[in-house]
Amino acid sequence: MKILVLNCGSSSLKYKLYDMEDESVLADGKIERIGHENAQITHQSLDHSQIDKTTPIFEHTVAVVECLNLLVDPEYGVISDLNEITGVGHRVLHGGEYFKKSVLVTDSDLAYMDNKLKELGPLHMPANIMGIKACQDIMPQTPQVAVFDTAFHSTMPKRAYLYAIPYVLYERHRVRKYGFHGTSHKYIAGRVADLIGEDVTKLKIISCHLGNGASLAAIEGGISVDTSMGFTPLEGLMMGTRSGDIDPAALYYIMKKENIPMANINTMLNKHSGLYGIAGVGDMRDVQKGVNEKKPMHTLAYEMYEYRIRKFIGSYIAAMNGVDAIAFTAGIGENTPRLREIICDNLSFFGISIDKQLNQQRKKEFEISAPDSRVKVYVISTDEEVIIARDTLQLVANVHSQSN
Ligand code: AMP
Repeated sequence: MKILVLNCGSSSLKYKLYDMEDESVLADGKIERIGHENAQITHQSLDHSQIDKTTPIFEHTVAVVECLNLLVDPEYGVISDLNEITGVGHRVLHGGEYFKKSVLVTDSDLAYMDNKLKELGPLHMPANIMGIKACQDIMPQTPQVAVFDTAFHSTMPKRAYLYAIPYVLYERHRVRKYGFHGTSHKYIAGRVADLIGEDVTKLKIISCHLGNGASLAAIEGGISVDTSMGFTPLEGLMMGTRSGDIDPAALYYIMKKENIPMANINTMLNKHSGLYGIAGVGDMRDVQKGVNEKKPMHTLAYEMYEYRIRKFIGSYIAAMNGVDAIAFTAGIGENTPRLREIICDNLSFFGISIDKQLNQQRKKEFEISAPDSRVKVYVISTDEEVIIARDTLQLVANVHSQSN
């Protein structure tokens, strides 16, 4: 069975076509700068034929058409007919409290996303929904599956997901912690269990997804019991351009002092804060370069970044009353040995110790803990798409078995 995975971001579309026989990727690509004259398409297929082109694409629906055309293209494609695709899995940012797991999308599901969830993710949800609708239009017979970034965290206990604000706000508006990067944390937990050779239900794992957006998850017995992102992806760790945790009263004070409206505060917290807010650069590679050049603000940003991760790891050890394994993933987690070393050295109280040489490796996944470490430490390249493809396959296979 062939499964297409689509990830429609605010101005981008990423896709991967899987052969689920062996989970091999037949083709993948991305379309960036959607909404512009010079949208950029990059596509490559299993035989490594590749195309890069620039073309005007003004909306996601057109991007989906471009992607599907490339998959059946005689020169660059890998299938001869769209009917070969058994199901399409869509990454959807927000499932709210309603979607606790992946679903085969029905009209009422789409209406719920449109009416109730769009406002919880105003940047991504419209694109996510548009991607599903476009596929329904073009491939009406093909099942569409929604896989939610929040769903993995739906197992958090109330004590972890509630904010200590008037309870009525939760009852009326479902204001609570939802958490994000769920598919990534789920993948990491599964890989950690495989690497240890133990059932995931017997393990306490801290998954550190450190990319442009960053979140930690405390995973006990295979389920998420706490995570650092919240009602939106703004809460928690310091990120590339997001502030992470801040005293909300400080915002009120800033608004008054600087005479800035709430909308601008939101932009400031999401786009002008984090590493960027302190060092003036939001990319960890640039921060590291500044640290090497002994630039004080880059060094400060780096120290703040590391300190917050370490504090969260410590708090999740407390939340689970222990930890068996810690795993680093995503752009920063996978590519910054020095950061991993500082974090782990500062957690030595917990019996965490890494092998500095192992930590310098660069491959898809590897262990970095020293033989005497009480906690296993891994670096694992995340794969959110394969989780989406697996969920899609499972739901689509159910439909097939029911109709046979
Ligand atoms: P992601 O969101 O997972 O794609 O991660 C993106 C971030 O990873 C970028 O903003 C960079 O800060 C960081 N990154 C990627 N490659 C490297 C690298 N080789 N060294 C340090 N940071 C990196």
